Amino acid sequence: MPLDPTLHADDLRAWYGSMPVTSRYTVGPAGERFFRAMKDAARILGTRCGRCNLTYVPGRLFCERCFDELTDWTEVGPSGTIEAVTVVHLDLDGALLEPPVLMALVRLDGADTVLYHRLSGVDVADAKIGLRVEAAFRRLEDRTGSILDISHFRPAG
Ligand SMILES: [Zn+2]
Repeated sequence: MPLDPTLHADDLRAWYGSMPVTSRYTVGPAGERFFRAMKDAARILGTRCGRCNLTYVPGRLFCERCFDELTDWTEVGPSGTIEAVTVVHLDLDGALLEPPVLMALVRLDGADTVLYHRLSGVDVADAKIGLRVEAAFRRLEDRTGSILDISHFRPAG
């Protein structure tokens, strides 16, 4: 017997509680190189596919189009251009975010893919496609080897 699909988000229920679950995510060889460069040197690395003429960021081991192994690492950014932006008004629990948070897809200079990250230092009205931005890295002692080693993107210059 098939389950009835829920067509309206208001029909969903949520149970709140906690579960003692632990997990470990490994970033793999490409992620290791990408995150270590950000943590140790505030550098953003991609990998290039010469056959497809594409640079992927974060760097990855294989081209998603032609499946070639990617070994050509290249530095991109730290500046880039906003390709899309959205204003987030609620957190994951539905609580109002005040002020709202800007999130953007940033295509770093030299990259053909985008990073999804927080955008700060710009008014909502000025957060538009085409805006030039730059990565704002955390201080060296505060970096942990995660995408949050980039604190946010801010207007360039
Ligand atoms: Zn390719």
